[in-house]
Amino acid sequence: MSQNRVAVVTGSNQGIGFATVKALCANFEGSVYLTSRNEERGLAAVEELKKIGLQPKFHQLDINDESSVLRLRDYLKDTYGGLDVLVNNAAILLPFKEGMSDDTFAEHACTVMQTNYFDTHRACKILFPILKPHARVVNLSSMLGHLTQIPGEDSVAVNLRAKLASPDLTYEELDSLMHNFVDAAKKGEHTKYGWPASGYYTTYIVSKIGVSALTRIQHRDFERDSREDIVINHVHPGYVSTQMSDYKGVLTPEKGAVAPSWLALLPPNVQEPKGAFVWCDKTIVDWVKGPMPPLD
Ligand code: NDP
Repeated sequence: MSQNRVAVVTGSNQGIGFATVKALCANFEGSVYLTSRNEERGLAAVEELKKIGLQPKFHQLDINDESSVLRLRDYLKDTYGGLDVLVNNAAILLPFKEGMSDDTFAEHACTVMQTNYFDTHRACKILFPILKPHARVVNLSSMLGHLTQIPGEDSVAVNLRAKLASPDLTYEELDSLMHNFVDAAKKGEHTKYGWPASGYYTTYIVSKIGVSALTRIQHRDFERDSREDIVINHVHPGYVSTQMSDYKGVLTPEKGAVAPSWLALLPPNVQEPKGAFVWCDKTIVDWVKGPMPPLD
């Protein structure tokens, strides 16, 4: 393998992203980039890893800022001739709390969807053209991003699930479904279109369903890409003790990084998993039908 290989983990100054950088530093043959939207927090995280003998590199990356993603792309292209591993880990969770107004729910829907779905999608559009043959891409989804998180047997919910599950779903159709959720949430009408009712995790659920549906389309594209053997998967890392889970998760960040880093390091010409929804114990779960394994 070339010594010029490079791996990037988005949103990796803390949590699962940080632990994924740690795992890659120990196991990836090449340079590993810890990235952070905030330079100070990112450099502090790099220093922490240097203290235990690891040698991550740092690059600023805020996926909300297109110019930041473009700067990273140009840097990777100039320095490494492309990108070998991309872990799309950066995300936010703004929970819906009791007493919150519909307006606040709508604002949360916009903000969460923007980072977790639209800006993750944009980062992919910017970075995928520089992926090298045999590149590995890992999209952090969640058990909350499993299709069955859209509940109900009424026709709108059934139709919505069918559209999201369709093997012919296009990027344009998926973007339009995600916009539909945001627009309907602004009017307090999202349930009319089959989306889950306003609750603690609703906007996060929709954003992660979006990430998973996106991964399935991206996988189809890589299957016919002229570059050899580019593999993408989406993963539920487990319920992990991080800032996002208010440190209530049952797994350590290191345990949460096990499946994401395994997927990032899949060997050349692997047969599976490819385009799969992968559980934290590395098993493949049917994203459309389930069943989902029980939580630990
Ligand atoms: P954390 O909140 O601990 O970390 C999230 C990271 O993303 C932080 O570094 C944060 O930066 C960064 N981030 C947020 N917005 C942006 C942005 N616009 N640009 C760049 N970086 C950004 O979350 P976790 O480690 O728990 O989660 C990591 C991934 O795993 C997420 O995709 C999450 O949805 C998923 N996941 C987590 C689960 C859990 O139980 N924790 C369960 C299932 C899925 P900053 O420090 O500046 O805020």
